[in-house]
Amino acid sequence: MTSAAKLRFDGRVAVVTGAGAGLGREYALLLASRGAKVVVNDLGGSHVGEGASQRAADVVVEEIRKSGGEAVADYNSVIDGAKVIDTAIKAFGRVDILINNAGILRDRSIVKTSDQDWDLVNAVHLKGSFKCTQAAFPHMKAQNFGRIIMTSSNSGIYGNFGQANYSAAKMGLVGLANTVAIEGQKNNIHCNVIIPTAASRMTEGILPDILFNELKPSLIAPVVVYLCHESCEDNGSYIESAAGWATKVHTVRGKGSVVRPSLEDPVTLEYVQSAWSKVTDMSEAKHLNAIAEASGSLLEVLENLKSGD
Ligand code: NAD
Repeated sequence: MTSAAKLRFDGRVAVVTGAGAGLGREYALLLASRGAKVVVNDLGGSHVGEGASQRAADVVVEEIRKSGGEAVADYNSVIDGAKVIDTAIKAFGRVDILINNAGILRDRSIVKTSDQDWDLVNAVHLKGSFKCTQAAFPHMKAQNFGRIIMTSSNSGIYGNFGQANYSAAKMGLVGLANTVAIEGQKNNIHCNVIIPTAASRMTEGILPDILFNELKPSLIAPVVVYLCHESCEDNGSYIESAAGWATKVHTVRGKGSVVRPSLEDPVTLEYVQSAWSKVTDMSEAKHLNAIAEASGSLLEVLENLKSGD
C-alpha cells in the first residue's frame, strides 16, 4: 500500500500549538518538510503549566530553518488564541491548518483536585483550542479551506485514575470537534480528532518502559499531517494512533427499549428495572451520523408504542 505522489503543503500556512516538544514538534517538522510555512507556538512552561520560556519554540524554528523550511515562533499561551493566529497572519498572511496540540497535566484524584488544577487544565486544553479555532475560523471561511485538529486522549474516552480534570477537557474537545466539523463543512473546513499515545515528557514515568521506548511521536505525525492535507476527506472523525498504527473510533448507540407498556402508561421505576437488560443490550449497537438520526429515531419509538410493538 504505497502511493506514488508525494503529499505537499506548498502555499499552506500551518499553526501548531505546543510545537516546542513532543508530538507538536513532530507535526511542525513534517509539515515544514513538505512545504508548509509553520507557526511554532509554544509557551515553554513546565508540564504542569508553570513558567514560560521562548527556548522551546525557538529551537524548533531553528531546526526547520536549518533544513530549508519556513517557520516563525509564537510564545503566546493558547488561551490567547487570537494572538497565536495573529502571528500567522502577520508573518504569512493566512492560516490554512490549525493543530490544537498544546497541553499540560495536573493529575490528582477527584477529591484532591483543586479549583486551580481544574481551571488551568481545562483552560489550556479546552479553552485554548476553542480560542485558537475561533480566531482561525473566519480566515478559513473566507478562503474556503481549512483543516483543524483537536487533540483528545484515551483518558477522556475511557477515563483514567487521577485525571478527572484532564479527562473532562479531553472529552470536551471531542464535543467541540463535532460541532466545528458541522459548522465548517460547507466551507471545506474539516475538523478531526487525534487520540495519540506517545512517549513524551507528559507520559514519562506513566507508560511502562517497554512501551515508552517504542511509542515515538514521529510515528503519529504522518497520520495527523495526512488529516490536514487537502486530499483527506474526513470531517468529524476520531482517529486513534500510536506505534505506527491507526484506527477510526466511533460512538455507538444500542437498539434500546421502551420503558413503559404503552403510550398511555407512565414510566415506572419497576418497569425500568424490568426493561434494563434490553436498555443496556449493545448487541445491535450502531453508529449514528448526526443528531437528526438520534432525534428522528424517537418518532419510531412513538410509532412502536402506539402499535404496541
Ligand atoms: P509535551 O509536554 O511534550 O508537549 C506539549 C507542549 O505544549 C509543550 O511543549 C508545552 O510547553 C506546550 N504548552 C503547554 N501549555 C501551553 C500553552 N498554554 N500554550 C502554548 N503551549 C503550551 O506533551 P505531548 O505528549 O507531546 O502532548 C501533546 C498533546 O497530546 C497534548 O494535548 C496531550 O494532552 C495530548 N496527548 C498526548 C498523549 C501521549 O501519550 N503523549 C496521549 C493523549 C493525548
